[in-house]
Amino acid sequence: MKIAVLKETAAGETRCAAIPETGKKFVALGAGVAVERGAGEHASIPDEEFETAGATVGSREEVLGGADVILCINGPEPASLSGAKNGAMLVGALDPLRGRETIDGYAAAGLDALAMEWMPRITRAQSMDILSSQSNLAGYKAVVDGASVYGRAFPMMMTAAGTINPAKVFVMGVGVAGLQAIATAKRLGAQVSATDVRSATREQIQSLGAKPIFVENVAGIEGEGVGGYATETSPEYQKAQAELVSGHIAKQDIVITTALIPGKPAPRLISDSQIATMRPGSVIVDMAADAGGNVEGTVPGESVVKHGVTIVGASNLARTLAADASALFARNLYNFLSAVWDKEQGHPVFPDDDEIVKAIRLTHGGKVVNERLTAA
Ligand code: NAD
Repeated sequence: MKIAVLKETAAGETRCAAIPETGKKFVALGAGVAVERGAGEHASIPDEEFETAGATVGSREEVLGGADVILCINGPEPASLSGAKNGAMLVGALDPLRGRETIDGYAAAGLDALAMEWMPRITRAQSMDILSSQSNLAGYKAVVDGASVYGRAFPMMMTAAGTINPAKVFVMGVGVAGLQAIATAKRLGAQVSATDVRSATREQIQSLGAKPIFVENVAGIEGEGVGGYATETSPEYQKAQAELVSGHIAKQDIVITTALIPGKPAPRLISDSQIATMRPGSVIVDMAADAGGNVEGTVPGESVVKHGVTIVGASNLARTLAADASALFARNLYNFLSAVWDKEQGHPVFPDDDEIVKAIRLTHGGKVVNERLTAA
């Protein structure tokens, strides 16, 4: 049983799909681990550390030769995977909806592609959830990035030269990233408020010591929403939410937006005219920038200034914390593979009717098999 770990080739990618700790654990399960030379370079993991953990290090051709499992962060080009065994598993964030041709390529190459971002959000799979692990880090980094461009301090400071007021931080969208953003802003000493369309988040906001700001007169989404996710809200709700935000936002110094709706463009939460009501020097960090943006005027990957307010188009924030993001991603992959590892056979075994397998398996036996792709 040979597990290959690829060096990422996507522009700007810094993470690595294994760390020495997970390499060692795979070796303890009886697998051979082969890491492509330089795979951990941007995550501060020298090749020697993988070797000390029991892995071999080599060229892509060497690590892929005879591989049964290929671990990656981003889905590689199918043509770059020759040498792996027929039926080898490719496990990573494969972006199935945006990269359909690539998925067809994996099927044609005889690979079993497993898209970790489609992991169902069930208790059993929590430790395998790459979206959560990466969003957690991104939520933290959004606040730190916001603080670094904000020309004032976050905590209240009483100095001999006078008092500095605490920053007011408003978090819009309280999923995994939003909760971490609230916690981080609180730790930095800000006064934090937050909003979401799912009513279950009200208590979560309060439990972190922040103030919930909710539309009261129009129904939003009851409880957790479908599977924990938001759906689009009614026009009446959107109007009420816009009014609520208009009243609140003018008094905020930092706004972190994280709102996403699966399968849809990000909802527009802040308009240009609302930005104009904010105090010059305020900062908005739009974590939905890559999904179309929650904020009018957001440019993904760039900071723009509108009406004196800096709008940070936050893109791929987890990549900026390469070592921690790699460690959590790598553990998600290990937790997944070790959970289906058959010790007697010495390799992972996927029961066809398993909820996790059905959700994340994209290709099998030379065909695209995932319902979300075949139905599209
Ligand atoms: P997400 O990234 O899809 O969306 C971020 C947040 O934006 C969500 O809270 C959503 O309700 C909110 N949102 C959408 N439209 C909005 C609007 N118009 N205004 C304000 N907010 C809006 O969410 P996520 O981080 O993936 O988390 C979704 C849920 O899944 C959470 O309840 C989380 O606790 C749950 N979850 C469960 C597991 C598990 O059990 N394995 C793992 C991870 C997350």
